[in-house]
Amino acid sequence: MDAAQNEAWNVAVVGSGPSAFYAAEALFKSGGNVRVDLFDRLPVPFGLVRGGVAPDHQNIKGVVKVYDKIAANPGFRFLGNVRIGRDLAIADLAAHYHQIVYAFGCESDQKLGVAGEELAGVHSATEFVGWYNAHPDHRDRKFDLARAKRVAIVGNGNVAMDVARVLLASPEHLATTDIADYALDALRRNGVREVILLGRRGPAQAAFSPKEIEEIAELPDVDVVVSPAEVALDPLSAAWLEKDGARSQQRNVKFLQERAPAGEGQRPKKLRCRFLVGPTELQGEGGRLRRVRLQHMALVADTDGTPRPKAIDRFEDVEVDLLFKAIGYRGVPVDGVPFDDKKGIVPNVDGRVVEKNGGAVRAGHYCVGWCKRGPTGLIGTNSLDAKATVEAMLVDRAAGTMLRPDRADVTTLLAGRGVDIVDWADWKRLDAWEQEKGREKGKLRHKLATIESMLQTIRTLRPRRAGS
Ligand code: NAP
Repeated sequence: MDAAQNEAWNVAVVGSGPSAFYAAEALFKSGGNVRVDLFDRLPVPFGLVRGGVAPDHQNIKGVVKVYDKIAANPGFRFLGNVRIGRDLAIADLAAHYHQIVYAFGCESDQKLGVAGEELAGVHSATEFVGWYNAHPDHRDRKFDLARAKRVAIVGNGNVAMDVARVLLASPEHLATTDIADYALDALRRNGVREVILLGRRGPAQAAFSPKEIEEIAELPDVDVVVSPAEVALDPLSAAWLEKDGARSQQRNVKFLQERAPAGEGQRPKKLRCRFLVGPTELQGEGGRLRRVRLQHMALVADTDGTPRPKAIDRFEDVEVDLLFKAIGYRGVPVDGVPFDDKKGIVPNVDGRVVEKNGGAVRAGHYCVGWCKRGPTGLIGTNSLDAKATVEAMLVDRAAGTMLRPDRADVTTLLAGRGVDIVDWADWKRLDAWEQEKGREKGKLRHKLATIESMLQTIRTLRPRRAGS
């Protein structure tokens, strides 16, 4: 190993979700003498693996075993309960680290931009997902599930599928998972009998994974209902599916076309998949959502031949009690970090942060994951994405274009500011505590849902120092 490889190399990663861990892993594998500090504003790690992945998808959550191994690297530290922009400025990070990696994901959601979006009963899927997953930002939200019979979900992605499944599954399906206790209580009183999925494009362009819709069809009380007319492919989609369609899209179409002849089915609950329709107005009574006005769409090829929805002069009103927008996440700007407001991401060229689109590179600043490329892809997608950014970091390090930190350990600054840093050992104690409490309740985990309760519990679990 040459001398440069041995030089101190400190990297701050802002965020502790999958892309943050994959960035740390790629850095450790690079062979340099690197120390990686992962920051999170919450006292707990794992981003959307904890706060986004559905509680009945524990096989997906199992990926944290990989992150545990990454965290076991001697150069790794977790600094939870540290909010960048409040406890530390970006300038503070620049004074302590040679390189900074933004991995803060997309914490907000896209707006529909139609009249009535502010009505009671209209929610974003992001809020609902955070709520049932005990995310402190969403723990206090209220969803009137007891009075709801028919619910619309706008969007045809995997988040829409998660929301549909949680609404339609029996509470017993979720009872032994790590779902928030208050969410399980509310779901036990859930009156939802029908969920209508609203796709603005056709079945060939549905963004959900085949196994997600198949999983809903396997729920014992639920029929997947789709009209033969809406799953019949238009000539453009048929040609596009044949030429450019992914296998998953072909499987979706086959599944839906096979379901169509079964009609309404016999089961008490329905997932009704609608295609080529989009909400154009949400109508209420007394400030509450009552119905959604749908406009029908036709597909037209854009310049590269991709079928895009075009509104046509045909409308339909559907009575609904609740509506969830599952039309994608959106990034939230962080103080001191460039932000592309149009795309809702950090502007970058292959992971190197730029001041603005087409602007100069901000040397030493990088991004990974959803804040780099937007809210797309599965968890594993973030591994390749992080490796690509780390490649750029290695090239820049070799070229000497890094930040020039002149301060010692950032924990000194944080302690001076009275920040109670939650480290990895703290998290592991809370992790064990949550699992133990869960076992007592017959669940996989009892998740704490407020920052205060997490910190209080962590403090009681910390070993007492000698003399204290
Ligand atoms: P997504 O996959 O991008 O789906 C968004 C959906 O919203 C698309 O059907 C899109 O239609 C539609 N849409 C967007 N704007 C709309 C509008 N104005 N009106 C009507 N429909 C609109 O996003 P997501 O479901 O939020 O998921 C984000 C990522 O996380 C995805 O990569 C997803 O696979 C992943 N994820 C995976 C799992 C899992 O593996 N179980 C679970 C959850 C999330 P168009 O296609 O026409 O734009």
